[in-house]
Amino acid sequence: MLGMRRFGFVAGQWLSFKQIKPDGEELTRAYSIASPPGEDARFALCLNRVQDGFMSNFLCDMKEGDEIRCQGPFGDFILHPPMRDTIFIATGTGIAPFRSMLHWLLADESRHQGKRLWLLFGNRCEKDIYYHDQFQRLAGQHSNFHYWPTLSRGAAEWHGLRGYVQEHVPGIAQGRPDIDAYICGLDKMVKANRELLTSIGWDRKSIRYEKYD
Ligand SMILES: Cc1cc2nc3c(=O)[nH]c(=O)nc-3n(C[C@H](O)[C@H](O)[C@H](O)COP(=O)(O)OP(=O)(O)OC[C@H]3O[C@@H](n4cnc5c(N)ncnc54)[C@H](O)[C@@H]3O)c2cc1C
Repeated sequence: MLGMRRFGFVAGQWLSFKQIKPDGEELTRAYSIASPPGEDARFALCLNRVQDGFMSNFLCDMKEGDEIRCQGPFGDFILHPPMRDTIFIATGTGIAPFRSMLHWLLADESRHQGKRLWLLFGNRCEKDIYYHDQFQRLAGQHSNFHYWPTLSRGAAEWHGLRGYVQEHVPGIAQGRPDIDAYICGLDKMVKANRELLTSIGWDRKSIRYEKYD
């Protein structure tokens, strides 16, 4: 129990949750903190029910007052200064660390002044886009923040980008080896984007990533 003490973490870090399964096996799974560091011990998670997965369904089924053990924060998938123009590339719940980072960055002008930030966020359908209204609102409030949701199976009414995130990366990254990229999601998507960026001449050191599987 964290109580209402301040809970120290850096945007982008994750927590390790432990739970005993009905068969007695202890399971540990990592979940990124989806909210920015704040004044109290509350934090948000962005969860997806994985078919037949124990922990994701356990967490999604928790009711107010239920308890679970967790440890952390852990992880080095955090913003590394000096701040440069930055692309954040996510699919699905891979948005969690970027929601934390972007809310933190945009909360204080001095943290992002003079820098351009792009969020390329891939999902299947419009209903799958986590925090869509929030990111649209942030983009409306900050002219240097560009929100690019893209759908792989968008309905006819969708007027935004279509296809996979990596199809839209060159539009931002080509000829710009001075940008940083942060990538978060499942292994296949992280790999596709890393390969793409290195193929257009980016230094590996400018590319940071977190894999969920
Ligand atoms: C650093 C880190 C941060 C993470 N942050 C988050 C987060 O913020 N939100 C979140 O929902 N998950 C996150 N995950 C994934 C999470 O830890 C679990 O792997 C996931 O919830 C599945 O656990 P499970 O026990 O339900 O299913 P398991 O029984 O462990 O997995 C069932 C199958 O689903 C696959 N799988 C794992 N994750 C996913 C996924 N996200 N989508 C589709 N298939 C998957 C596994 O490879 C496995 O084959 C993170 C993982 C890491 C390593």
